[in-house]
Amino acid sequence: MTATATRVLVLNSGSSSVKYQLLDMADGRRLAVGLVERIGEENSRLAHTPLATGGGKRETEGAIADHETALKAVAAELSADGLGLDSPQLAAIGHRVVHGGLRFTEPTVIDAAVLKEIERLVPVAPLHNPANITGIRTAQALRPDLPQVAVFDTAFHSTMPEYAARYAIDVETADAHRVRRYGFHGTSHAYVSRRTAALLGKDPSEVNVIVLHLGNGASASAVAGGRCVDTSMGLTPLEGLVMGTRSGDIDPAVTFHLKRVAGMSADEIDELLNKKSGLLGLCGDNDMREIRRRIDEGDERAALAFDIYIHRLKKYIGAYYAVLGRVDAVVFTAGVGENAAPVREAAVAGLEELGLAVDAGLNAVRSDEPRLISPEYARVAVAVVPTDEELEIARQTYALVSA
Ligand code: ADP
Repeated sequence: MTATATRVLVLNSGSSSVKYQLLDMADGRRLAVGLVERIGEENSRLAHTPLATGGGKRETEGAIADHETALKAVAAELSADGLGLDSPQLAAIGHRVVHGGLRFTEPTVIDAAVLKEIERLVPVAPLHNPANITGIRTAQALRPDLPQVAVFDTAFHSTMPEYAARYAIDVETADAHRVRRYGFHGTSHAYVSRRTAALLGKDPSEVNVIVLHLGNGASASAVAGGRCVDTSMGLTPLEGLVMGTRSGDIDPAVTFHLKRVAGMSADEIDELLNKKSGLLGLCGDNDMREIRRRIDEGDERAALAFDIYIHRLKKYIGAYYAVLGRVDAVVFTAGVGENAAPVREAAVAGLEELGLAVDAGLNAVRSDEPRLISPEYARVAVAVVPTDEELEIARQTYALVSA
């Protein structure tokens, strides 16, 4: 890496998409952002915005057969703006990798052994790790000389104590199959909890925070002095809160009941709980905007779905309050948490005895900035902190390669 190499390309490779951002870590500026969607279909789409040049969004449609073709197309778009992968200013490529298992608790420079280990984790992250691996291999082929860094969604949660990370099942069976609670969205929980401490004017080591990451996927975490002590997702991102299309917590007996009584296969139950449940399963919509609109029109199914969502959220706030003992802040983030004032208001309603309250005026303000929404008198701060997983991946990647 040359002294002037301060840029990091962040790649988030999903099964049929690649999201990317090019950032300059000298000042944290975003130089380009984009997305390739529907990879493998006839109508793939690449949307690229070269922020550095002030150029507008460029969109191209047409079949993009695989991730390799997608990344080559992204590289060509970046080159067209003088931001190509061959630039000497590029310090590294940072990859979001969903599952790091027990082995990866820190951002890690990827070599053949690391890649092999990420592959070994495919059985516990069948939907995610294969796409991440494809992204890494393709980027390696394009720039074999450049450091490629894996930043794991599970890493921030690796500090969970054993009593929070283990399920109460037979230890030998659990260990033989790596069944335990890993947690996800860790990059977001790390970024948001740290940013919340800054908002309070404190060092992360001084504060206890409950982070509520409410996007289409949703998870809560309890962070004590900057370290995660519990989180709501488990072996997979299915456990915990009610999500857009995932059930979150259910009695595990529901699965064998459905198998025995409804004759459903494991794959069908997997699909039901991951893709056809949560808000979507409850009311037919998974977008909180649409659900609020329907509630305003008097739709009872939407209202019940909202109440179930809030009830679960409130239970986790209470549980993590008890886990932490003392709470300095409850913070909302991601699509729903950052934008849906009614969700924030309802989640905290009735918790005044715990020192929690939301100021209606502050809660109604729309902003992209981290902000407090609790009244002055409240003992516990309630905050909204927009998450920025790409910036955090770039920060961790750059810290590793520039050390
Ligand atoms: P993910 O990264 O998990 O796909 P996001 O964090 O982008 O999700 O959140 C997406 C969700 O945010 C949408 O499904 C929608 O429910 C919600 N959302 C976005 N904007 C608003 C808004 N203005 N009001 C309420 N909900 C919103």
